[in-house]
Amino acid sequence: MTNPTDRHTPRAVRMSMPLARDVVEAIAVQNGVCIRPVPLRRVDTATGVSEVIDVPCGATLEAKCPSCAKRNRHLRVAQCREGWHLEHEPAITPGPADDYQTHLVEQRASFQTERDRAASAGQDVTDIDLAIDELDEEINQAGLRGSVVGRSTPKRSRSTRRRQDAPDLPRRTMAKTTLGRVFHSSDGKSFRPSMFLTLTLPSYGKIRDGVPVDPDRYDYASAARDALHFSKLVDRFVQNLRRVAGFDVQYFATVEPQKRLAPHLHMAIRGTLPRAELRQVVAATYHQVWWPRQDTVRFDGEHLPVWADGVGYFDPATGEVLPTWDEALDQFANDQDAEPVHVARFGVQTDIQGVLAGTKDADQCIGYLSKYLTKSLGQSMDGAGDAQHLHAERLMNALRWEPCSAACANWLRYGVQPKNAKPGLIPGRCRGKAHSPEHLGYAGRRVLVSRKWSNKTLTEHKQDRRTWVLQALGIADEPIDPHRYTWSPIPAGDANLTPIGVRLLRAVHERQRWRNHMTQLQAQADGQDLSAIGEEAA
Ligand SMILES: [Zn+2]
Ligand SMILES: [Zn+2]
Repeated sequence: MTNPTDRHTPRAVRMSMPLARDVVEAIAVQNGVCIRPVPLRRVDTATGVSEVIDVPCGATLEAKCPSCAKRNRHLRVAQCREGWHLEHEPAITPGPADDYQTHLVEQRASFQTERDRAASAGQDVTDIDLAIDELDEEINQAGLRGSVVGRSTPKRSRSTRRRQDAPDLPRRTMAKTTLGRVFHSSDGKSFRPSMFLTLTLPSYGKIRDGVPVDPDRYDYASAARDALHFSKLVDRFVQNLRRVAGFDVQYFATVEPQKRLAPHLHMAIRGTLPRAELRQVVAATYHQVWWPRQDTVRFDGEHLPVWADGVGYFDPATGEVLPTWDEALDQFANDQDAEPVHVARFGVQTDIQGVLAGTKDADQCIGYLSKYLTKSLGQSMDGAGDAQHLHAERLMNALRWEPCSAACANWLRYGVQPKNAKPGLIPGRCRGKAHSPEHLGYAGRRVLVSRKWSNKTLTEHKQDRRTWVLQALGIADEPIDPHRYTWSPIPAGDANLTPIGVRLLRAVHERQRWRNHMTQLQAQADGQDLSAIGEEAA
């Protein structure tokens, strides 16, 4: 524990010792300091110095605290702006790994060691495989491309798997460009127009002020399934769009909640297509869900499947072992009359705008794109009335029994063992994000950016801002040798770790010092506005 009378404790910290945790957090948020930092031990291999570094939660791109959410939103706006109207093909060169990326890769390596050890000891590796998948996803999101150590488990190849039917769309030969067409006006000016698109899901019943007029006739089941499969539908749309456009279309898109609580998509597209063609692509796009049937509830209430090691889930009344996930898929793969359990499509409300670089329209669209990024889908409910809360509750009930993925516990309800089945699964109690009130069925990423948009990851945009500020300060931004530091997690409840409240107040103190410094510099720098950017570099 930090002693309040210890003179080495910064004054700001000593003064604030009696403050309650939530007050400290409020102060931290006011100052843009991360309140859910991840402490990591960093050892400098050159000097042997070991210290604890608080990595902001926002470094994982899934910001969990308001400060990081706000900062990431600023970075997203910068990223969106930078890629939208590019005039030159972005160069593809991988940059050096940063500290956080290095840490992730090292953690990945230790997970792999752990997995190999467990596997050779004949232990169950399901959980660790899931952890590895999650970590791989995070590594990719942190801007490292490709797989780090290759897959730990070979994917089952399924020659009989149902293919998506190809939509009826014109197909152009692909040009090797990510830029749109240039148009020339009679007075010699050239324009490279871009587009802004809003896609919504279909109607599930008449809506007034964000709530169904007749809740009993509102199609909650379809609303739930469409939300669950929305990210797949968006993937299909991009594939179809590229096929029709005939160039490597780049986009920056965000998924946001409508008032009726259905997800919808705002998408900035670099380059243009004729509106009629774009409408044709939207109308022809669909996603078929080839999952086992869910129309018969086989297990409910007290009558639930029971797990036995080496056997899997079986019906306690009859002793019948339920088909495994792969067996269930094989069953209908051989059935010529099988139909998809669900087909997701967009609704008819599509909005298409042409946008020119640097115009007021472009700024307004970027505003739409980033409007709700600091909130979860469910949080758009803040301040909503009783009728809307009731509406959310009904949607949650529908989502409760829908399988959110192949591994969802809800499959047991329909008499199928979920993929990677393990003991303790209870239908209706899946812990997948999609079932939660924050996500309302959509558990995918909120920001979707194609790889050659600005050709920079969020981490690289962050680095840009830092470099800019350091240059303004006249400090050289020396590249850090990625192998100089080793990072390791600090176990939860480590007695040597300074309490979070004290760490937060120290960070606030640092931030304030930095800000004062920036203010002084700004006065000297003849009114150059550094304040907004100082936040990012501190
Ligand atoms: Zn944070
Ligand atoms: Zn689930």
